Amino acid sequence: ANFSIAQASKCSGVEEMETHQGNSMSLIVDPHKIDPQLLQKMEYDALVWSSLHGLLVGDRNSQISGTVPGVGMVHAPFSLLPMPFPESHWKQACQIAPIFNELVDRVSLDGKFLQDSLSRTKKVDAFTYRLLGIHSKMLDAKKIEEIRLGLHRSDYMLDEQTKLLLQIELNTISSSSFALGCLVSELHRSLLHQYKQYLALNPERIPQNNAFTQFAEALSKAWSEYNNPRAVVMVVVQTEERNMYDQHWLCTTLKERYPFETYQVTSIKKTLAEIDALGELLPDGTLVVDGEVVAVVYFRAGYGPRDYPSESEWRARLLMEQSSAIKCPSIAYHLAGTKKIQQELAKPNVLERFLENKDDIVNIRKCFAGLWSLEDSNIVNDAIEKPGLYVMKPQREGGGNNIYGDDVRETLLRIEKEGSEENAAYILMQRIFPALFPAILVRQGISQKHHVVSELGINAAYLRNKTKVIINEECGYLMRTKVSSSDEGGVIAGTGVLDSIYLV
Ligand code: ADP
Ligand code: MG
Ligand code: MG
Repeated sequence: ANFSIAQASKCSGVEEMETHQGNSMSLIVDPHKIDPQLLQKMEYDALVWSSLHGLLVGDRNSQISGTVPGVGMVHAPFSLLPMPFPESHWKQACQIAPIFNELVDRVSLDGKFLQDSLSRTKKVDAFTYRLLGIHSKMLDAKKIEEIRLGLHRSDYMLDEQTKLLLQIELNTISSSSFALGCLVSELHRSLLHQYKQYLALNPERIPQNNAFTQFAEALSKAWSEYNNPRAVVMVVVQTEERNMYDQHWLCTTLKERYPFETYQVTSIKKTLAEIDALGELLPDGTLVVDGEVVAVVYFRAGYGPRDYPSESEWRARLLMEQSSAIKCPSIAYHLAGTKKIQQELAKPNVLERFLENKDDIVNIRKCFAGLWSLEDSNIVNDAIEKPGLYVMKPQREGGGNNIYGDDVRETLLRIEKEGSEENAAYILMQRIFPALFPAILVRQGISQKHHVVSELGINAAYLRNKTKVIINEECGYLMRTKVSSSDEGGVIAGTGVLDSIYLV
């Protein structure tokens, strides 16, 4: 590591540390031991930096902060210093990103695989049932998506015991906070630079993170493939969005940085209900919403049942899917990112159906954790016996839906007793235990010392038009850190913070 202990010891209280379990892989500064006065200055500077650079979210304490920009803003929760992360695992995660992109694309083209894999799930999960219904309509209509755009994020945890980088999930819809994630990388670099004589951490060890310019570029290239200079990018949003600045960063970048010739890529924001009220399909399949032709539909809503309170929202989803607009994601890409499909892909000989290259298959499979259907009674029995070693997951996105610990046992026993088909709603996953690190988490201007675990997300963009792959690349990262005692770590939900990585 590019970090000298001799240098570090110059600073009072800053020293080499070991992880909780006595693992010395991670050579970092223990932030819990930084001199209190120094710490206070750093926290203050970090808060100023966040305010001046747009590392912001809407404050829950303000009622209108989810609808009116510029009102009730608060810094996004962040970790004061970057998390140590092994460079080899970082590179591994980046290298497999394009393979996952290709995999999602191939899976999305196999309508029967998607329908068959989710056929039991849909009987007990009304949301999945509706998504499959739209998908099935598209199959019946033989609808072909020639231009396909994916903005994905594959999430990993580093299992401490096995030192394996294991995938938590692959998000194909609405993965958010990548713009704020870039800003946290910059915040950390700036702090490391400013306090270099105390911290002895090299700012260069925080990898460049260009997620939002790269995502903006992917959107603008998709827009240009659609080939209508008057068309817009439509962002599908929730009615209230406290993570709005993350979205504004993307849309503003789209407008300011990628003016194609004399045109600018304009974006409009619409809720599903508005799309239902204002949208229409021209006879040639063109999607027009509020008088604007839509080239690209970018979903930052629509990933969960709460976004569809009435039939109106489902009509909007179908309308968009039927249109010639480029959907990010299409219904097939959305389904390819479900947890059930993740579990099906982990079965023996399934990856081989979608990928030819043997090395690609090996490299992808290496990061698969144990994943099982609840039809596997051996695993169900084991999970009832040792619930702490498993996570039970329904087909949901956005955090807060999984089942942990004793609840796993209780839920499994209940389903078993009722003999219901409810078991098809879930998958079981091996619980991953990452190393614990000391950290300082800053939320609402207040810092707290915690022991934390982190999850690394690798963003990736994929764009193709018929046989031509235009983009297939890794696009920066999003590190999320949570208090180790919390099962889930939603940043906006309130138990997690945004973070960056320090390569060791
Ligand atoms: P969602 O789509 O809702 O984000 P995830 O599968 O990412 O669902 O689960 C949410 C969170 O639960 C993750 O961010 C992680 O903190 C935790 N989690 C999920 N799977 C595991 C696992 N196998 N081991 C440990 N923690 C997990
Ligand atoms: Mg998800
Ligand atoms: Mg997740």
